[in-house]
Amino acid sequence: MIVELWADDRASADPAIDAVLEEMRRLDESMSTYKSTSEISAVNAKAADAPMHISKELFDLLKTARQYSELTDGAFDITYASVGYLYDFRKHVRPNEAQITKALPAVNYRHVILDDKNQTVFFSQKGVRIDLGGIAKGYSVDCGINVLKARGFTRAYVSAGGDSRIIGDRFGKPWMVGIRDPRKGDGEVITRIPLTDAAMSTSGDYERFFEEDGVRYHHIIDPHTGHSASKVRSATVIGPMAIRTDGLSKTAFVLGPEKAMEIYNRIEDIDAIIVKLDGTVIYSKGLEPAKTQ
Ligand code: ADP
Ligand code: MG
Repeated sequence: MIVELWADDRASADPAIDAVLEEMRRLDESMSTYKSTSEISAVNAKAADAPMHISKELFDLLKTARQYSELTDGAFDITYASVGYLYDFRKHVRPNEAQITKALPAVNYRHVILDDKNQTVFFSQKGVRIDLGGIAKGYSVDCGINVLKARGFTRAYVSAGGDSRIIGDRFGKPWMVGIRDPRKGDGEVITRIPLTDAAMSTSGDYERFFEEDGVRYHHIIDPHTGHSASKVRSATVIGPMAIRTDGLSKTAFVLGPEKAMEIYNRIEDIDAIIVKLDGTVIYSKGLEPAKTQ
C-alpha cells in the first residue's frame, strides 16, 4: 500500500494518510475471503440457503462485478472462486481434473441473484463461492482517493498492489508510469506512460504463481475451464477509476490479446497495453502514439 500526497504542511498530511489506511483496513475487514468474520465470508457461508440482506456497499460492488462479467463475455467472474478456492499458490496446491469438473458448474456469474428492492444476494446453486480479489483492490484505491478528496487534497496518489490512481499531477508534470517487462526484474520497463487524473491496473502472470512440469499455474482463473488463464503475460488497463481498470485487467488472460483489445477499444475512456505470450506489446487505439515515442 502506497499513499503519496502533496500538502503544504505535515499537520494536514499525516492524519489524511492515517485516514486512507484506516479506510483500506475497513474494506479489507468486510471484503476479504481470508477473514472468516468478513461480510463476504458470511455471504459464502449462507447465500445458497436463502436470500441474504447485505450492506449497500457490498451490494453495489456485486452489481459492478456483474456489469464487468457482462462486458467481458464472462471472462471476469467473481464466482471463479467456486473453483479458485481449491488453489493455494503460496503452497503450490492445485485441484486435479476430477475436482475441477465437480466444482465448475458452480462458476457462473448468473448464479448470483441480486435483488435491488430488498438489497439481498442469493446463490441459485450450492457450491457457489465468490471472491472480490479481482475488483476490491481497485475499489479500495478509489475509496482512498475519495477520503483525500473529501479533505481537500487535489494532488495525491494511492496504490495497492497492481492497482493505482492519481488525482491531479505532480507539480505540473504528469505521473510517469513504467510498464514492467513481465519476464524481467522490477526495474525493467517496456514503456513509460504519462498520466494525470487517471487510474491504472496491471495483471501479470508473474504476481502469484508456481510452476510444475513446465506449466505455469497462476492466480487468474478462466471461468470456463477452471484452469489458470494464460493467454497473455500481462495486461495494463488505464481509465478514470481503479474499480473499472481492475475489473478489466484480468480479461486479456482469459480472452486473449485480440479479443480483449477489441473490448478495451470499444469502451471510450479505457486504454490498455498488453504483453503477449511471445513478448510483443500491443496498444489500444488511444495509446498508439505512445508506441512510437
Ligand atoms: P492484484 O491482486 O495484484 O490486484 P489482479 O488485479 O490481477 O491482481 O487480480 C487477481 C485476482 O483476481 C486473483 O487473485 C483472484 O482473486 C481474482 N480472479 C482470478 N480470476 C478471476 C476471474 N476470472 N474473474 C474475476 N476475478 C478473478
Ligand atoms: Mg488488481
